[in-house]
Order: sequence, then structure tokens, then C-alpha cells
Amino acid sequence: MAKLVPLFSSSKGNSYYLQGNNSAILIDAGRSCKQIENALLINDLNMNKVRSVFITHEHSDHVGALKVLSSRYHLTVYATKGTLEALYEQDKISASTNCVEITDKIETDDFKVERVDTSHDARESCGFLITTPDDRKCAIVTDTGFLTQSAIDAISSSNCAVIESNHDIEMLKSGSYPYILKKRILSMTGHLSNLDCSKMLPRFVQNGANRLVLAHLSGENNTAKIAMDEALKSLLNSNMKRDIDFTLDVAAIETNKKSVIF
Ligand SMILES: [Zn+2]
Ligand SMILES: [Zn+2]
Repeated sequence: MAKLVPLFSSSKGNSYYLQGNNSAILIDAGRSCKQIENALLINDLNMNKVRSVFITHEHSDHVGALKVLSSRYHLTVYATKGTLEALYEQDKISASTNCVEITDKIETDDFKVERVDTSHDARESCGFLITTPDDRKCAIVTDTGFLTQSAIDAISSSNCAVIESNHDIEMLKSGSYPYILKKRILSMTGHLSNLDCSKMLPRFVQNGANRLVLAHLSGENNTAKIAMDEALKSLLNSNMKRDIDFTLDVAAIETNKKSVIF
């Protein structure tokens, strides 16, 4: 049995805590070190079991706390070659930090972690498929303009899936964002819409990914209710029943002390 704790998730900051038997890892370290420590405290957790942090890409909502957190807790930072280069260049990591490049698959702290391809306007972004010590799988796929085949395969093979459900397309189009930003979000290297996320969910559940977490919701162009309703509509239309065939949660912008056991 493994436990996933979304600490926070949105364009303001992203971080997830994943616990196996005796160790834990962090995925992304957005916001500040203090905010991550507080979010852990709220969930009756701390950094004691964490030795590694996996970074999806260099955007500040994923690495705001990385420099301080990794040196304070002597964490090993895992990321793709391109992401590590961007982190050094942008001074988001210390020269003395222990960094490991993820090529395909890596084993650490009892976890096996596979890289998942995402399509995003960062140097070399990725998602992760994490296998826990007791062979449970969690896929984390956010910050992607569309679901790549690698992402579809990873989510399909998982037990628990964190999938981006960033925006409602109409809210975004009619909202206050400048045209250039709307275009970026809607592009193939932007963010995944509620529609693009929800239409794939029945297939994922059918394949066994029945612990679903919608993530990286926009604070401006989405609400938890709208994202949840769209996902539920798609799943219920496929004759799947909530809490029987699947569970569905939203990774909150601020931690809501909710974990997913899988
Ligand atoms: Zn992001
Ligand atoms: Zn990003």
C-alpha cells in the first residue's frame, strides 16, 4: 500500500509527497521551503523519510523551493538533462547539490521511477511513472499541451493517476488573460484542458488506473467543481460508478489534508 499526498497544485505552486513503506519522495518543489514544510505538517508528515526530489521541469511553480529545500535536507535532485541544465543556468540549484540525470528509468530509495514524455514549453519537461516498494504504480502527468503516447501508456499501466486538468476552454477564451498567454496555454506545448483530460479517463479506468486525481487547475480559468463535473460526466457516460469503479479527487491549490491510498 502506498500513499500520495498532494501538498499543493496549480500555477501558483506544485508539490506531491509519495510514501512507500519506509521512505518517501517528493515530486516537484514549487512555492517556498517553509510552505512545503507547513503543508507536510498539516498532513502529519515531515521531511524525515525524504531523500530525493524529482523535478518535472524548470518553471518556477515547480522549483521555487528547490534550492533551499535540497540543501537543507541534502536531497538528491532527479531530472532530465535539459531540466538540470536549465536549473543550473537559472540559479535554481546549488553547484554542490547532488543531481542525477534521468534518462529512461532509475531506481532509488525503494522506488523505481520512469520518465514519461510531456509536451510543454520548457527545456526538457517530463512526467513520472513511479513504482512503489510493493509494486503499486503512480503516474504523474501535468504541464502538457496534449497527452503523449508515453503518457497514455504510463497512466494506463498505473493504479493511481495524477493528470492535469488545467482549464475550461470557454473560461480561458472569454477570460482576462492577454491573447498571447491564451494562445500559449491552448497550444500543443501549453496545458491540458478539462475536455482533453476528461475524455481519456474512461479508458484509463478501464485499464486499472482507478484512483484519479485532477491536478494543476488554473486559478483563473477553472474551478474544482467545473473540472470535477466534466470528468464525472465522461466517466458516468461510460457506465462507470464513482467509488465503485473509480475514486476522483482534485489536487487542491492549498493542501486540504487529503491523501490517496493506492
Ligand atoms: Zn506548472
Ligand atoms: Zn510549466
